[in-house]
Amino acid sequence: MGRRKKIVQECERLMDEPENIRNIAIAAHVDHGKTTLSDNLLAGAGMISDETAGEQLAMDTEEDEQERGITIDAANVSMTHEYEDTNHLINLIDTPGHVDFGGDVTRAMRAVDGALVVVDAVEGAMPQTETVLRQALREGVKPTLFINKVDRLISELQEGPEEMQERLLSVIHDVNELIRGMTQDMDDVDDWTVSVEGGTVGFGSALYKWGVSMPSMQRTGMDFAEVMELERADKRQELHEKTPLSDVVLDMVCEHFPNPVDAQPRRIPRVWRGDAESDLAEGMRLVDEDGEVVFMVTDISMDPHAGEIASGRVFSGSLEKGQELYVSGTAGKNRVQSVGIYMGGEREEVDEVPAGNIAAVTGLRDAIAGSTVSSVEMTPFESIEHISEPVITKS
Ligand code: GDP
Repeated sequence: MGRRKKIVQECERLMDEPENIRNIAIAAHVDHGKTTLSDNLLAGAGMISDETAGEQLAMDTEEDEQERGITIDAANVSMTHEYEDTNHLINLIDTPGHVDFGGDVTRAMRAVDGALVVVDAVEGAMPQTETVLRQALREGVKPTLFINKVDRLISELQEGPEEMQERLLSVIHDVNELIRGMTQDMDDVDDWTVSVEGGTVGFGSALYKWGVSMPSMQRTGMDFAEVMELERADKRQELHEKTPLSDVVLDMVCEHFPNPVDAQPRRIPRVWRGDAESDLAEGMRLVDEDGEVVFMVTDISMDPHAGEIASGRVFSGSLEKGQELYVSGTAGKNRVQSVGIYMGGEREEVDEVPAGNIAAVTGLRDAIAGSTVSSVEMTPFESIEHISEPVITKS
């Protein structure tokens, strides 16, 4: 059996274990390294070859994006990662990093429970960092922080340990100020500020594929001084092998982002105003794969062969080929032609996609981004508010 086939099989197995699923987005100000980091994670999970990560830009599937060098459409990928002897299914939604595409970022946030916010160590938090954080927090999505391009502080700016520490702490401080300001009135979240000690902050270099966090340093026995020494001596391959970025980030994802069973009871009242006492509500709270089908479409893309593909989050029930489903705001039903998941940017058809997962569905001809698709008529999800951007001019 080919490697790809094996990964698909493992993903299908894990789709039935919502406790081991993490639905996440990576969000960042443009050029802070989101695409490079995403590729690293795919390579680390064995989805693309290690050598090409960072060059291949697997998440940039649209021709348009390759030309413009920015990520426009929210592409999805599923990957597996072993953490504490348990394999996890990580469904990653890529979010556009460009100021014009804020609506897509907000929609992507509806499908996920955790957002990895990437901030360039040299530039620090930028206006769009604030926007993506606001989008995440409004949707009840928990943030963690990855401070990228730390190689530049060490090798290019030749910063000493103290100067560097001060800079990194100031990035964390700024991000926490934003999080604090945005969550102070929310009674359904705990303290969502990030911290090095708590393991919700990672540092590293997506370009050179190394990363560290407090838990990773404890595990590998490497301290920051050693990291600096290797980076300064241009021993980046050694650094990558000793403390691979993908392990550090994916461990953080598994440890600190909520699984759908923890996230949905908190998120559903925030995004759905239907009857909280109904069986439908109960099915969504419990992530019940045997309940009524409730699917929220977050993105529509075109496939040259399959036509329109609706992707989004299954909140309850299981999506299967042949189902006749209601699409909010339209009369009649649509018939599901195929269901699938995304593997390294490509769609892979599977028999069913149960609650708690991200699915790619064909046949929903009336669906648009934002549609609620369900096996019974229901109150649709709250419309996704587009948070407008401050005008940003980049120097
Ligand atoms: P995105 O717009 O957030 O997706 O950013 P990209 O991943 O496309 O990266 C923007 C630029 O920063 C590219 O030229 C990358 O090669 C570069 N870059 C990304 N990560 C790093 C890093 O860790 N260190 C350095 N020095 N450059 C990086």
